[in-house]
Amino acid sequence: MVDSEKKGNIAKVTDEKTGSEASVQKPNIIEFPPALSVRQLSDLLNISPVEVIKRLMRSGIMANINQVVDFKTAATVATDFGYEARLKHRLTGKGGRANETKKQQRAHQVEQTSGLVPRPPVVTIMGHVDHGKTKLLDAIRKSNVVDSEAGGITQHIGAYQVEVNGQKITFLDTPGHEAFTAMRARGAQVTDITILVVAADDGVMPQTLEAIDHARAAGVPIVVAINKIDKVGANPDRVKQQLAEAGLVVEEWGGDTVSVPVSAKEKRGITDLLENLMVVAELEELKADPSKPAEGTVIEAEMDRTKGALFTVLVSSGTLKEGDTIVVGENWGRVKAMFNDAGKRVKKATPSTPVEVLGLSNVPQVGDVMTVVVDEKAALAVIERRRQEAEKEAAISRTVSLSNVYDQISAGKVKELSIILKADVQGSIEPIKTSLERLSSDEVKVRVIHSNTGNVNESDVMLAIASKAVIIGFNTGAEPGAKSSAEREGVSIRFYNIIYNMIDDVNKALKGMLAPIFVEVIDGHAEVRAVFTVGKKEKVGGVFVTEGKVTKSSSARVLRGGQKIHESTVSSLRRFKEDVREATTGYECGVAVAGFSDFQVGDVLEFFRNEKSG
Ligand code: GDP
Repeated sequence: MVDSEKKGNIAKVTDEKTGSEASVQKPNIIEFPPALSVRQLSDLLNISPVEVIKRLMRSGIMANINQVVDFKTAATVATDFGYEARLKHRLTGKGGRANETKKQQRAHQVEQTSGLVPRPPVVTIMGHVDHGKTKLLDAIRKSNVVDSEAGGITQHIGAYQVEVNGQKITFLDTPGHEAFTAMRARGAQVTDITILVVAADDGVMPQTLEAIDHARAAGVPIVVAINKIDKVGANPDRVKQQLAEAGLVVEEWGGDTVSVPVSAKEKRGITDLLENLMVVAELEELKADPSKPAEGTVIEAEMDRTKGALFTVLVSSGTLKEGDTIVVGENWGRVKAMFNDAGKRVKKATPSTPVEVLGLSNVPQVGDVMTVVVDEKAALAVIERRRQEAEKEAAISRTVSLSNVYDQISAGKVKELSIILKADVQGSIEPIKTSLERLSSDEVKVRVIHSNTGNVNESDVMLAIASKAVIIGFNTGAEPGAKSSAEREGVSIRFYNIIYNMIDDVNKALKGMLAPIFVEVIDGHAEVRAVFTVGKKEKVGGVFVTEGKVTKSSSARVLRGGQKIHESTVSSLRRFKEDVREATTGYECGVAVAGFSDFQVGDVLEFFRNEKSG
């Protein structure tokens, strides 16, 4: 993200009089061309682009890293950093773009004609429980709402915008990395920057580490808000130290992570935080073309008893207007009315703006994509295409498991095996992580994207879906909710208590040599109501399917008084003397079980299948 790499020796700094070493009293002379980009300016001054952008912002200039500033502006910045700027006269090149390469000039031309303009950043807040996420969202909202009439007191939708130095920032009001990753798991990534809240009196905690990994897995830059600095036990330096241990080195310590001390309670440091968000946003160069038909993502949806289906959309590009024909997921309709975050009716919504929309007859799903189309015919065509794509996707495996990773590598679908590692104690994590990552080869890289102590939880499962990762537990278990959502979503979790076995399995999986795990899936149950003899001595149970189904390929277990007395496969399945493939609940049929001829009325047949898993 923030490029703070110092490129030494680029600045041509000489002391005018002596021509040698710079004196302390006199400013160093530095030569600038008539115009130069922020990156060039920071290179010449040998300071990070973040510092340059911050300095420009203080003078009311919002610039991104590639933006070109004129000599006068550059000279003012230089003065602040102890230099005296002189104009460098060039023999070649013209005007402000003199220093740009052909490629940069082309990029500028494309930008000018394509209608791309900067858009507000979309920001999410994450952090450990009770570190002040909600309080901070509140403090930001109250300090700086765009719509002053609303006073920032009542917020109507799950996102809001604030203004800093005339620029807007959009905040999503669902704090926490769980919500963030759940959106990603549904295929929607709307966040541009994440604020990591760390309480200064409590320091980095397990969910702080989780949040860091979730943001990293999504490639979203992190701005740290060191909160609760008003508290007696607050120790921001200790937080910085702990963050460094987690791989986030703050700027003051030579890293590229922006950190801001705040107190959500006393509303201190909020403007500073917002300004820093703008700096990071500038570096991200977030752009969209407001002249195009709108696209967006649903961030919340509900059925209102009086208004009908309502949903909040965050416009990602283009401008959404009243009357537009929209397709949302597999629904379509027309925008009847739109309301902004203050509940005020608006006629249009530009990129990064959240609005509540009325106009669909069905409630869409969070994460659905909204697209503006020309008319009903186009809407129906888009829906048909989406259905076909959804069917195609359902047919292929969405998730990666140790059993299928080799096939996915061979098919070129996977170049990296992402692993989420949970262990009982911290001490086990590093050695396991190193051993796993050492299995990387030219074909596939093994990467532990998140590791932590404790049971596998639901946010691990969400992260696994969003990042197509497998979960490995060492000497640990899974929380019940996590287990069931992993089963539902097809996420692979494997547990080990011997490191060697774990490494061996992952190694075999990468080579396609891992024997799959089979799990038993119960198809259904039936009750024997009569016994028939077929041919010489084959016995068939005349059964009634009480639950689920029986298929010709099922395995069967005969239970008498709750005890298993036989287990093999279904050898024939008939209805009215006809062979059938399956019989479902409420039907009667004749079942023969291989190697069994001792049916009694009242026996229960349990039908099951063994399926590949993990
Ligand atoms: P969340 O779980 O991260 O959303 O945390 P909350 O926003 O609910 O805050 C947890 C507790 O910390 C609440 O009692 C807040 O009032 C308190 N709190 C939040 N920010 C600050 C702060 O800056 N200073 C102090 N002293 N307390 C705070």
